Amino acid sequence: MTEASIPEAEPVRLSRRDTALVIVDMQNDFCHPRGKLFVPTSPATIPNIRSLLEKARRSGVRVFFTQDWHDKDDPEFGIWGEHALAGSWGAEIVEELKPATGEVVVRKLRYDGFYGTSLDHYLSMHGVKNLLITGTVANICVLHTAGSAALRWHKIYVPVDCVSALTEFDLKAAFRQITFLYRGVLTRSELVELT
Ligand code: ZN
Repeated sequence: MTEASIPEAEPVRLSRRDTALVIVDMQNDFCHPRGKLFVPTSPATIPNIRSLLEKARRSGVRVFFTQDWHDKDDPEFGIWGEHALAGSWGAEIVEELKPATGEVVVRKLRYDGFYGTSLDHYLSMHGVKNLLITGTVANICVLHTAGSAALRWHKIYVPVDCVSALTEFDLKAAFRQITFLYRGVLTRSELVELT
């Protein structure tokens, strides 16, 4: 068997006209130490995502947030325990990344930000081709959303300093799938130029 490798993060230059920033599940339950499914490396990504978010806002790049959002008896709780319960503090997006007026928050039922949501509608309505995907958990909701975007022929870009997972292995597994299977490009928040 040959060794799998993960490409280096590279500089990217994207046009505001056909690019969107997607921030996946940066909610208290995943990103706050008191959250129900806390990802310990996620708080370190908040300033990086925030700088990308500010860059997107300055350059007029559209911003979409996904928000995991479950009813009381959601079968997903059988896997993970209760989290992101509709209307709860845990389901709120972290204070530092609060959506601004006009930014779309897509409430999602499962790992995939496209499944049963209006994300596809908004992206095609605005002619978005490139997606900068950030957030958590890298190998779960970020990967499923990135994969679903790639299956729709969006070009995906993932800044490695803007995603987090429970283990280094999970993070690498996500990067491998994103680059190898979905032909995504790895970058870093400071290497993203929006024009
Ligand atoms: Zn969930």
